[in-house]
Amino acid sequence: KAKEHGRDRFCYFSDDLEHEFHQRQNIDKILRNALENDTLEVHFQPKLSLKNKLIIGAEALVRLRDEEGSLISPLHFIPLAEETGLINKLGHSVLKQSCRAAKRWLDKGHPIKVAVNVAAKQFTDPKFIESVAQILEDTELPSGYLELEVTESALMSDFDETSRILNGLSNLGLSIAIDDFGTGYSSLSYLKLFPVDVLKIDQSFVKDMVDDKQSLDIVKAITHLAHSLNLRIVGEGIETQAQLDTLISLECEEGQGFLFSKALPENEFENLIF
Ligand code: C2E
Ligand code: MG
Ligand code: MG
Ligand code: MG
Repeated sequence: KAKEHGRDRFCYFSDDLEHEFHQRQNIDKILRNALENDTLEVHFQPKLSLKNKLIIGAEALVRLRDEEGSLISPLHFIPLAEETGLINKLGHSVLKQSCRAAKRWLDKGHPIKVAVNVAAKQFTDPKFIESVAQILEDTELPSGYLELEVTESALMSDFDETSRILNGLSNLGLSIAIDDFGTGYSSLSYLKLFPVDVLKIDQSFVKDMVDDKQSLDIVKAITHLAHSLNLRIVGEGIETQAQLDTLISLECEEGQGFLFSKALPENEFENLIF
């Protein structure tokens, strides 16, 4: 380590950088262990129909615990997993657990669509479509109960390639949602060229729209756009009744947020629906 050579002679890292370096190594180790021992958890956040307030879907959100059992934020380990390549294994585990859960809900008489986040790196993996097809086959989940959430930036690297992948996925019968819509790429033409089914309004707009006219105008524009293109619209990060009322007045079909529920471990989610 640089420090052992004496602070004055060699100082490759500032303390902050060194701290960050060790933290990353530590998280990497925890993630590797979790994948090896199959202890990576998936929690499910209810998605409600804003018309009748019934739970019609669930977003699968990955959860990783440190040695003490506290949760590490996905914002810390997802980008790291993308860099190290672990994201494919992580994504596979999350997708499999999610499809297995949705199949069990369906078998118990609860037709709930599960939405799984897909990182850019995963999406462009040549084996991705095949592995999704395999998981659907193995878990026996009808593909209509699976939704994949991708961000705009994941779609914008190579047009032909993206189009091929999205069509391949869409041909499996699952639906495609654009996550964090409004924060990424500015051209909207891809919406009519790609087989997209759902737009998820980014939570930053939902958070601000009640007090900030510009945010409200953006949400209005997004909902109009979605409706005129025949896309479903999901509001995320709904925390207050005022936000909910606004989304309902704009005829937003679905929503999720702490006002209803945070993401729950599978058994707690099942207590809600069964
Ligand atoms: P996202 O896909 O946009 O997920 C929504 C995030 O907002 C989740 O955070 C969720 O817990 C949080 N959230 C939900 N309702 C509310 C609310 O009312 N207020 C606030 N303040 N937050 C709310 P989480 O679970 O920490 O995940 C963060 C991000 O990490 C996700 O954003 C997604 O980009 C990524 N992520 C999570 N799980 C996975 C996964 O399995 N695979 C991949 N590739 N990415 C994942
Ligand atoms: Mg998401
Ligand atoms: Mg989002
Ligand atoms: Mg987000």
